[in-house]
Amino acid sequence: MEKKKVILLRYGELFLKGKNRNLFEKRLIENIKKVLTDIEYKFIRTQNRYYIEDFDESLQDEIVERVRKVFGLHSLSIAIKLPTDYQNLKEAIADFMPTDGTFRITTKRADKSLDKNSMQISAMLGGYLLSLNNKLSVDLYYPKNEICVDIRENGYSYIFSDKIDCAQGMPVGTAGRGMLLLSGGFDSPVAGYRMARRGMEIYGIHYHSYPHTSELAKQKVLDLAEKLTKYCSDIKLFIIKFTDIQQAIHEYCREDYMITIMRRIMVEIAEKIALKNNCGALITGESLAQVASQTTRSITVTNEAVKTLPVFRPLIGMDKYEIMDTAEKIDTYAISELPYEDCCTVFLPKNPVIKPDLEIAKKEQAKIIGLEKMIEDAIESVEIKIIKATY
Ligand code: ATP
Ligand code: MG
Repeated sequence: MEKKKVILLRYGELFLKGKNRNLFEKRLIENIKKVLTDIEYKFIRTQNRYYIEDFDESLQDEIVERVRKVFGLHSLSIAIKLPTDYQNLKEAIADFMPTDGTFRITTKRADKSLDKNSMQISAMLGGYLLSLNNKLSVDLYYPKNEICVDIRENGYSYIFSDKIDCAQGMPVGTAGRGMLLLSGGFDSPVAGYRMARRGMEIYGIHYHSYPHTSELAKQKVLDLAEKLTKYCSDIKLFIIKFTDIQQAIHEYCREDYMITIMRRIMVEIAEKIALKNNCGALITGESLAQVASQTTRSITVTNEAVKTLPVFRPLIGMDKYEIMDTAEKIDTYAISELPYEDCCTVFLPKNPVIKPDLEIAKKEQAKIIGLEKMIEDAIESVEIKIIKATY
């Protein structure tokens, strides 16, 4: 019997209704193919599933690991594909036989030329397994093991049992583009991941205060961005030299408002670059009450410096330990944990204001002589890096 392993992919059907379906699917397929560019395989699209076939079986785990991270896929299974024939099905189903406990066989029959219906085929195959192993029994309602048999119109059947969870969400590129304020901390990479999961393409912006912050601190951010590419493909990263602006804030502004003003200027610059690069939103890793600059009042004062774009803060209601869990899952934790100074920690005031006042913040900010020019210069001298996806 000609039988081979294939990988069956299921997508989140909820999102497939309405006129966006085509766009959604086209992008999903493109994104799947992108993570497999260096691998040979055949991609088969049926009405509600995809199959990856004819690949080198030694690469199976690698393919699964990559494809699992593609947003928009719900789950996958390793299946056996074989020509439809009762004897073949019996032989193949023996490979899926549980050692003990209860099981059920669920057959879907698209091939109407067969003389047995789905139930009869399940009963035939179930009876066969029972005859092979007397430690098994059938439970149609709460089986310990479920074996699925998919009999397609094209003369082939697929058998599979376990489902492996995929990343879910929406395909990257179906929800526009966002500009992620990416620091070296735990939060912002997770924020980027969460928005990519809702279909956003991610661009990044990072502020450094060289020589107060080291090259290593910058490298850390490049490494974080590279980790994110496994989920959201290439990332265009804008690196802004923030030293002069930070020094000026330090020189001219009230100490307890320094962070507030720094954050206002960060989002102002981010919005300007975002608008020039077709980004529809800013994204930050802020989480309510995590630090003084993330109280409702602080966020209000920062937000006022953004003119038109929405600021997405996907972590706003998440606890630190939940954020850390996600960082672990997406493999950014170990990098974020490295100790290098961030520009936020340069000139850090001892007691940052917790409930800043917007008028005071604006007045303090207005004291900075030549700020407009400094912002222009920072934008003009931006360093742009394309972080190429690695899988
Ligand atoms: P993170 O762990 O992501 O660094 P944090 O808890 O340290 O966050 P803040 O330093 O207040 O919090 O920063 C809040 C958000 O502002 C970050 O999540 C990030 O989106 C943005 N941000 C902070 N520092 C920088 C930076 N140097 N470059 C770009 N964005 C930054
Ligand atoms: Mg930080």
